[in-house]
Amino acid sequence: MEVYISSNAFWALLISAIEVYKRECFGLLLGYRDHPNLYILEHAISYQTANRRHTSVEKNGRASRRMEKFLANLPHLSVIGDFHSHTGWGDLKGVGNLSTQDLVDMIPGNLYMIIVANDKRRASTWQYHGDGTLSGTVDDYHFRIGGYYLDDYLRAKRANIFCPYAIGFSAKESQQKILTRSASAQRWSRSKR
Ligand SMILES: [Zn+2]
Repeated sequence: MEVYISSNAFWALLISAIEVYKRECFGLLLGYRDHPNLYILEHAISYQTANRRHTSVEKNGRASRRMEKFLANLPHLSVIGDFHSHTGWGDLKGVGNLSTQDLVDMIPGNLYMIIVANDKRRASTWQYHGDGTLSGTVDDYHFRIGGYYLDDYLRAKRANIFCPYAIGFSAKESQQKILTRSASAQRWSRSKR
């Protein structure tokens, strides 16, 4: 299974994890299934009424029924699953594995994304990993994004995530930094003249 993440959805996932950081966010994934083995994730909508705790997040039943009904009427897009974050800081590192509750909540045909947000130890560019996840840093945080689904035998599997935007964004960011650095070096050398 492959998951393609749009730039919109990429930022929405990160921003909703950061908004409530140290607590967990929860939201819905909007997009479509282009092929039996490919999900296109266009938007990620954060649930403002989710009950957030450090180690779990629950959705508000009434609000979620209202949202689901509303979203069922969107043209072109549908709810393809949901996302939540696992957070960690200091020595309490958040991990990307599915918890027992995460597994219980999985329904065949749905996509589940977990954003692991941790304090950043050092800056790293956005990159894909052999286990299908995508990771990188922004500001003071390190993120790892993983996608999960149930296979035909109802076993939880990790999907391969693709987000060309995130990979390109890293490249652009480091290029930008080099440019800024050389510009400030020039300014500095000019002022010394
Ligand atoms: Zn979880």
